[in-house]
Amino acid sequence: MKKDLITCVIPCYNESKVLDKFYSEITKIAANMNSVDFEFLFVDDGSSDSTLSDIKKLAEGDQRVKYVSFSRNFGKEAGMLAGLSNSHGDYVVIMDADLQDPPALIPDMYNILINEDYDCVGSRRVTRKGEPPIRSLFARLFYKIINRMSDTEIVDGARDFQMMKRSVVNAILSLGEYNRFSKGIFGWVGFKRKWLEYENIERAAGETKWSFASLTIYALDGIMAFSTAPLVLASILGLICFIMAIILIIFIIVKTLIFGDPTTGWPSLACLILMLSGIQLLCIGILGQYLSKIYLETKKRPIYIIKESNTDSN
Ligand code: UDP
Ligand code: MG
Repeated sequence: MKKDLITCVIPCYNESKVLDKFYSEITKIAANMNSVDFEFLFVDDGSSDSTLSDIKKLAEGDQRVKYVSFSRNFGKEAGMLAGLSNSHGDYVVIMDADLQDPPALIPDMYNILINEDYDCVGSRRVTRKGEPPIRSLFARLFYKIINRMSDTEIVDGARDFQMMKRSVVNAILSLGEYNRFSKGIFGWVGFKRKWLEYENIERAAGETKWSFASLTIYALDGIMAFSTAPLVLASILGLICFIMAIILIIFIIVKTLIFGDPTTGWPSLACLILMLSGIQLLCIGILGQYLSKIYLETKKRPIYIIKESNTDSN
């Protein structure tokens, strides 16, 4: 009988410091799983260090090692997409190169998929140990806000580390959007998903590629990709202003009738103008953000450009 093939998709951006360590860990796990074949698909996301040559070296000594290398840095989202679309496995697992996603969970994930009635096994960090507290605080806040605003469930602490059946991979690949927010896409496609929980593990070596600013932009992109609630905000603010104006008009008419019309109230007028123009600018800004997303979508630019690879689909 043909063995199942598991593809490990590993997006790598300047990971030469941990690559060997990662490879030795993952091959150890693979060696213990005799009933399946493995494919290790490294996606070099335009690294400027020796990541690509390290991967090539690994590929020389091990036929299971495949790679796709981008022409520049396109981001982890693009890396995951390239990995999924170049994978051949019946099962695909996405994992980070820095060993924060424990390879030891792979056998458990595979056993769940073949023995239980699930299509996908995700992983959740239940602690954020080792992370700056302010970052954890904002992360929590982000998940609260986005889940309020969006119909798609986006699970707090969910990692990209997950194993899925081919049917799920195909579903994810069928979403052709340019602004990809995978955490939302994984939830949007549905399927039955089981969550494995584990404690946060710190990076084995190297540094995180995410600054606070880049995380904030990523969070805002996520909200815009999976919710149109901010657009409703404009209507709500407009309505509130309208009601306030009616009340004020009635108040002023009554006041003038009773007390006459002494010319006062310039400071309050200035404040009102400032507030209202602020609200208008905010709403135009929100519209503009959505417009810019539409602009990028309509350009239909490729999400990544492959410079070289050793997979046969290219
Ligand atoms: N990564 C990538 N492209 C990028 C940034 C990151 O492919 O532009 C990869 C990175 O090499 C790693 C994974 O995405 O394998 C997660 O990145 P990182 O560990 O920096 O994120 P964190 O774990 O701190 O959230
Ligand atoms: Mg990491």
